[in-house]
Amino acid sequence: MTDAIVPTFAPLEEIRTSYLKIMTEKSNERLADASRWLTFITLIVASGMLIYVVLLLWAHRVIFKPLLQARYNIVALADDRTIELPQAFRNSGTELDEVFKALGVLKTRLAERREITASLRTHALTDGLTGLLNRRAFDQIGDGKIYFTDLPDVIGLILLDIDHFKSVNDNYGHAAGDTVLRAVAKALTTHVRRGDLVARHGGEEFSVVLSGVEFSQLYSMAEKLRVAISKMTIEVSPSIFLNVTASFGIAFGPRENGGWTELFAEADASLYEAKRAGRNCVRCLMQKIS
Ligand code: GH3
Ligand code: MG
Ligand code: MG
Repeated sequence: MTDAIVPTFAPLEEIRTSYLKIMTEKSNERLADASRWLTFITLIVASGMLIYVVLLLWAHRVIFKPLLQARYNIVALADDRTIELPQAFRNSGTELDEVFKALGVLKTRLAERREITASLRTHALTDGLTGLLNRRAFDQIGDGKIYFTDLPDVIGLILLDIDHFKSVNDNYGHAAGDTVLRAVAKALTTHVRRGDLVARHGGEEFSVVLSGVEFSQLYSMAEKLRVAISKMTIEVSPSIFLNVTASFGIAFGPRENGGWTELFAEADASLYEAKRAGRNCVRCLMQKIS
């Protein structure tokens, strides 16, 4: 029976082997397909990421970096700092080129405005004829708020007025008078210490503000200025030389909390006293001059 049945098993065995072979082949094919898809998708994702990175770098160089630079420049302009505009966008015709062009214009305008402001400020405070501080500046010494913040509270004030100045104008002309005013201004600035303030606060009236001095030094300075002016020989025209003198009034004390007005009034009264005493002298009503 065995001999009869076993040979009939062979076809079954062949069927099983063939079936297994077919299944293995199909499965290998699927595996190969899946591998191809995996490679394909990996390549697509890698290219996508590469494009993304390239775009990011491009956007950083072409958009973000210039925008950050523009922002930095705007802040720098607002803070009054100098800026360097990048060359890269010059004449590229892009919006950023226009932004940087506008920043360039803004930079020029701000520089012009700074110059104008400085010049206006100088003109507002300077006497055109002598280059000294003018009346407006002189009046601000009193409050010390804007321009003279480092001036101490206690100061010495010298007021001086050229004697018989009207006769210079009358006899030699207004231009000669102006020459005398300039010469007196020069004498004052030459003899005061660095940091002292000299102003022309009226026609032929000048003032000197000394800080960090004692009364005796204030008096010595006034005396020194008086002598210096009286010793000058001023050439008002090629053949005309003039000598002038000035009368001085001095005052010493605090300038804050209304002190300035008082100080000025005292120096002015002292100056009046010097005129009354015969001119070309220094007077101080507050304190006895020894
Ligand atoms: P005193 O000794 O009493 O001071 O006599 P004074 O002649 O100096 O004083 P007065 O006030 O009579 O005359 C001042 C003159 O100063 C009158 C005015 O024409 C002249 N003056 C004012 N400002 C200027 C100026 O800018 N240039 C010239 N050349 N003269 C001026
Ligand atoms: Mg006068
Ligand atoms: Mg005078």
